[in-house]
Amino acid sequence: PERTLGLIKPDGYPVHKEDIFARIKTAGFEVVCEKEFTFDRKVAETFYQEHKERPFYEELVTWMSSAPISAFVLEKVGAVRAWRDLMGPTNPQKAREEAPDSLRALFGSEAPRNAVHGSDSQQSAQREITLLFPDVSPV
Ligand code: ATP
Ligand code: MG
Repeated sequence: PERTLGLIKPDGYPVHKEDIFARIKTAGFEVVCEKEFTFDRKVAETFYQEHKERPFYEELVTWMSSAPISAFVLEKVGAVRAWRDLMGPTNPQKAREEAPDSLRALFGSEAPRNAVHGSDSQQSAQREITLLFPDVSPV
């Protein structure tokens, strides 16, 4: 199996936590570990470093470090892809049109408020798991 990193963002946590974890279990993921925390701004900047030059970067980092979130490591065969499929498209409106049963369709409102995060590759997953769960094996 493979591991990936998920977050429930400030718009989803804690209100939609139970629903989201119910869907995670139904989809056959093992939840390796989970924690509630608030992003230190510097850690959020590091987490989203790939988006540094994007116009939404400041808003994203400020919002993501503004309130408690849930972070978790998921394990399953093909976990990176499977978790992104369960989340749906980045834009919640697009998600409602193209993947109405996805987490972002159900629980997101408008970018950046799309309820959940998922690593976009095995390499990102390893970086993100190591950043947020230094004591957990990323693979
Ligand atoms: P994530 O990395 O959160 O799993 P993603 O990989 O689908 O989402 P990215 O392109 O990595 O999307 O963007 C990271 C996050 O930045 C998005 O999830 C969203 O919260 C925010 N974001 C992306 N595009 C926009 C935008 N055009 N306007 C505002 N926020 C955006
Ligand atoms: Mg991404």
